[in-house]
Amino acid sequence: MRSANLGVELLDPKPLASGGRLRRARRRSEPWVGFEWLEEPERTTISVQSGCPVGCLFCDAGTLPYSGNLTLDELRLQAGENPKELRLIRMGEPSFNPAVLALLEESPAKKVLLSTVAPDCPVSERFLEALLELKNRRFPRGRFTLQFSYPSTEPGDRRSLIPVRTWGAEKIAIFGKRWMRPHDARVVLNVPLVKSFEFDPRRAAADFDPAVFSWTFTPVHPSGRARLNGLEQSWQRPPAAVARRMEDLAELGFHVSALPSEDADIAARAACGQLESA
Ligand code: SF4
Repeated sequence: MRSANLGVELLDPKPLASGGRLRRARRRSEPWVGFEWLEEPERTTISVQSGCPVGCLFCDAGTLPYSGNLTLDELRLQAGENPKELRLIRMGEPSFNPAVLALLEESPAKKVLLSTVAPDCPVSERFLEALLELKNRRFPRGRFTLQFSYPSTEPGDRRSLIPVRTWGAEKIAIFGKRWMRPHDARVVLNVPLVKSFEFDPRRAAADFDPAVFSWTFTPVHPSGRARLNGLEQSWQRPPAAVARRMEDLAELGFHVSALPSEDADIAARAACGQLESA
């Protein structure tokens, strides 16, 4: 896909330690509409909106001027011809953009990871229903991983970190059961654990089925917003509070993993929550 035909100007790419590149573009007619994506040998990580209306307290996407959904052609430009793994986890909430479904409908990617905060609104509900059907048809048998951002087992803490109305545990649990088919990847509950927030493994086990859900713990990277809100917590090895919760969840029968900070990604402003454009 030629950027000139899209009315998009490509900005200078930035090298990443992984051997990939952080790429940026902006619309020629509306230069305030920009987006950025990561091209790496094993995966491509794209933005789905310019800015983000959700405004999570640890993420710089919400600090950019919000300019709405990217077009299907802008998504295609980022995804490239044939990514091994396509990850929809950079800027924007995927369930707000129906063009994401159109992209996945035609994508030759071998694997897909899509992360959502599960906004409690009809647009996102329709999106996730359509995504379930699309996953069964185009990405069965473990090729699609759906991830929900789930920073706390306490609804009030979750709401303060993700400041929009989102699906509660019960609704996520029911949807996850419907999502999961034989040989599918478990639905991931992603926990950017913040020190002061409640995370009770027993409550997690009461709310979610280990046969359907797994847990991934991530650091809170030093984005401008995380620093401003005193939430930053980078780590290479899970700190004690994280390790304890991981052990408890594993004892309760869950698959549990950790995704540590990568210094090089942080330096390049490419880690989760960070944006070169911010
Ligand atoms: S974490 Fe995702 S949903 Fe939250 S502000 Fe950032 S891009 Fe938006």
